[in-house]
Amino acid sequence: QAKKLGRNNAQFFTPALNERVTLRLHLESDLRHATERNELVLHFQPRIDARSGRIAGVESLVRWQHPTEGMIPPVQFIPLAEESGLIIEIGAWIIDAACAQHQHWRKQGVGPMPISINLSALQLRDANLPTILSQAIARHAVPAAQIELELTESLLMDNVDDILLVLNSLKALGFSLSIDDFGTGYSSLNYLYRFPIDKLKIDRSFIQNIHTSADNLAVTRAIIGLGHTLGLEVVAEGVELASDVQVLQDAGCDELQGYHFSRPLPAAQFAEWLVAHRETVG
Ligand code: C2E
Ligand code: MG
Ligand code: MG
Ligand code: MG
Repeated sequence: QAKKLGRNNAQFFTPALNERVTLRLHLESDLRHATERNELVLHFQPRIDARSGRIAGVESLVRWQHPTEGMIPPVQFIPLAEESGLIIEIGAWIIDAACAQHQHWRKQGVGPMPISINLSALQLRDANLPTILSQAIARHAVPAAQIELELTESLLMDNVDDILLVLNSLKALGFSLSIDDFGTGYSSLNYLYRFPIDKLKIDRSFIQNIHTSADNLAVTRAIIGLGHTLGLEVVAEGVELASDVQVLQDAGCDELQGYHFSRPLPAAQFAEWLVAHRETVG
């Protein structure tokens, strides 16, 4: 038995794993310079008003254009940024870039439309977050009401009283607050009720199966009902099929987001998409 375990342990150090560990280490050190070297970029994905078919807002999603590894998605480097603490600096860059883009589009006559920014749990625990946000909107003359902050559900569970204070202060500054990936965490309904939240975004793992799973459709309908009971708007993430649009409209969903409407796009392409879909996006 011990021999078997030993062999399995030895297998742990495969060349492939070594390569991954090495890549990870060198990514982590490269990440330290990513903001100053201008390697981060925001892409933008529209949210659609389910009733009118018009654009309701836009979500900013960060990418890392690594000089040798190519485009690195956020799921690969946001965790590294969190472990190393760099997320505070990177998060501040993201907040500033989103506000700058909002101002730029407004000057171009595109919008204004609310822009959402994903926040890491560590940013929410940073006492400077309200200041970072306030300075960014002041710098780019963006009304706070145009900024939606997307928070994940798990974040609401630790240090409830501290988090409540932070969220209340962000609300008082005029920002709106959404719970992202709703349904994948385990937030108590009691907290949901206590927190000053404006919106729930139903995780795409539910939405992507509504056409094949009666259970997923039932859960989706229940979340929409729950959200409305609490006075919240409800967004469906990951809408990929035209047939999902109708089902979600019938279920009373307020906003829809997903590849069916558009993938996340670089700023210039997003503006073109917007012009082409100015009237309605069905
Ligand atoms: P999220 O905030 O839930 O963003 C939605 C993700 O789903 C995005 O992936 C988006 O490209 C993808 N998506 C949108 N529509 C569809 C669809 O119809 N089908 C499928 N399969 N996927 C769809 P992305 O951009 O790779 O981001 C992944 C996650 O990384 C985000 O999930 C968010 O948690 C995190 N993230 C992204 N940008 C930022 C950021 O600026 N700051 C922080 N802290 N986290 C970010
Ligand atoms: Mg999000
Ligand atoms: Mg999400
Ligand atoms: Mg997510």
